[in-house]
Amino acid sequence: MAASVKISTVSFHSSQLCSGFRQPLMPTKIGYPKSVVLVSQKKKQNEKQSRFPSPLKVIALDAAQPFDYESKISNEIEKYSKLKIGIVGFGNFGQFLAKTIVRQGHTVLAHSRSDHSKVARKMGVSFYLDQDDFCEEHPEVILLCTSIISTESVLRSFPFQRLKRNTLFADVLSVKEFPRNLFLQVLPSEFDILCTHPMFGPESGKAGWSGLPLVYDKIKIGEGLRAERCERFLNIFAKEGCRMVEMSCAEHDRHAAETQFITHTVGRMLAKLNLESTPINTKGYESLLRIVENTCGDSFDLYYGLFMYNVNSTEQLERLEMAFDALKKQLVGRLHKILRTQLFDGVARGEVSEQNSTLADLKNSSPSDTAIPLRTK
Ligand code: NAP
Repeated sequence: MAASVKISTVSFHSSQLCSGFRQPLMPTKIGYPKSVVLVSQKKKQNEKQSRFPSPLKVIALDAAQPFDYESKISNEIEKYSKLKIGIVGFGNFGQFLAKTIVRQGHTVLAHSRSDHSKVARKMGVSFYLDQDDFCEEHPEVILLCTSIISTESVLRSFPFQRLKRNTLFADVLSVKEFPRNLFLQVLPSEFDILCTHPMFGPESGKAGWSGLPLVYDKIKIGEGLRAERCERFLNIFAKEGCRMVEMSCAEHDRHAAETQFITHTVGRMLAKLNLESTPINTKGYESLLRIVENTCGDSFDLYYGLFMYNVNSTEQLERLEMAFDALKKQLVGRLHKILRTQLFDGVARGEVSEQNSTLADLKNSSPSDTAIPLRTK
């Protein structure tokens, strides 16, 4: 005779238990989840009429089963792929990155010079004003988001001895050779080092990071689990659709001076003109207004860092100046040619006085008048 099993309010025969499942249903200490509705009673009347017992059916299942090995394994994989990341420098960019990292399910803690605990709490980030307390939480990854110009002083007073020896040290500074050399000099030799630069910010990346470049250079990464951890960290950006660009720090700085530093310099120069929107904006002018908005939203410390801590920036600043001078010469040179032709033609016809005064005006105009013309409203 088949044994009868009674679980919660549902009772059925053990022969039926096996009929609908590949594995036998075994009652555990906690019993079966209530959400599993086993339909057997309803079928009893029908069984009397039928020669075969109707199969056991699960008609609702909304909780993981104790015997559901697949879900257990996927939970383990999910847990393993998550990192404990400690952000140092929880300012504009640190907070911007933290939002996405938290959304992806990683544990984020932060330390900064100023108290950002309120904003951190809202974002689901644990904030530590004390750097010893922060380090003793033993984040697997330290993500340095301090200003370029404060990085050296921050690092030189950081209690690295409180971190685990296998910590991965990463940064997001907008210059790369400077932090690379500093890390190799200052960090404990057991640490892994990854230099990165997300080539976007809170303004340009506000609608998402898809297609935006993430430059990285694996300076010193161990093997096995250490290498995997580095990949998991980089995967935060890859998952958002970033264009992953592996490049040496030196090459990054050459390109960044030619692109990012020029963009920031032009943006800040235009900002000095107090450009305003008009009823007849062209597309080109709209782009200029956007450059001002994109670059002047960043701190001046950041811009100064791009100049001071990238050896290629001085050359780019000089090239900009030379380009402006060359352009002015080209314009004024053409004007001189026209005036000279008129002058000599005029001499021939006896009409010199008016052209002479125009030439004198041109000679007397100071360079600053020409560089930043006054706005006429
Ligand atoms: P930032 O002005 O370059 O840096 C602000 C951060 O530096 C804040 O966390 C601030 O701490 C900290 N800081 C400044 N002076 C300090 C000092 N003397 N001691 C200790 N900490 C100091 O602005 P940011 O935009 O947030 O940039 C942070 C980093 O991300 C920079 O290295 C930048 O190059 C890089 N980055 C920025 C962008 C961007 O679009 N903004 C994009 C890519 C990379 P407190 O807030 O606690 O005062």
